Amino acid sequence: MANDPLTPSQTVGPFFHAALHRAGWNDLTAGGARGERIAIEGRVLDGDGLPCDDALIEIWQANAAGRYLHRVDQHPAPLDPNFTGGGRVLTDDEGRYRFITIKPGAYPWKNHHNAWRPQHIHLSVFGRAFTERLVTQMYFPGDPLFAYDPIYQSVRDPKARERMISTFDLANTKPEWALAYSFDIVLGGAAATPLENA
Ligand code: FE
Repeated sequence: MANDPLTPSQTVGPFFHAALHRAGWNDLTAGGARGERIAIEGRVLDGDGLPCDDALIEIWQANAAGRYLHRVDQHPAPLDPNFTGGGRVLTDDEGRYRFITIKPGAYPWKNHHNAWRPQHIHLSVFGRAFTERLVTQMYFPGDPLFAYDPIYQSVRDPKARERMISTFDLANTKPEWALAYSFDIVLGGAAATPLENA
């Protein structure tokens, strides 16, 4: 009804560290997931380049074979009973975050003939203010599918597209355990990480 009173907004918080976090939610491999183990590390920054602490980052992704744990996903690739594909982490005082996961497989999506998504991880980021919300996708360097993917190409600015591609990070690679990629997330400003389908 037109006269329904609107619930007022109260801009105190959010304080994600207080209630919306458990240790270990940033390790998607803890259950014994199959695939290539990787670490993803980076920082969340605001439009002025300052670290965004206590930001909430959630990720979801396909498994190593390119399949989501979701009934709508009927791609005939194997499910992994030890991998849900979802994770969550908070940034520390310097805006840093870290996930351990497996590299997702490319998958077909029937948008057009022979359509395959590049390997990617979906991200949602909540900063300290309501306006600091970002939903985007992180890609991996050198993917041959970039040129054919209308979702990746929907970000028109080539420099902005590059900001969605993680960087291979040899320094953070753990010998005999996992490769590492770095991915900084910028909420607002000229160097902002592009929104999904922006
Ligand atoms: Fe996806």
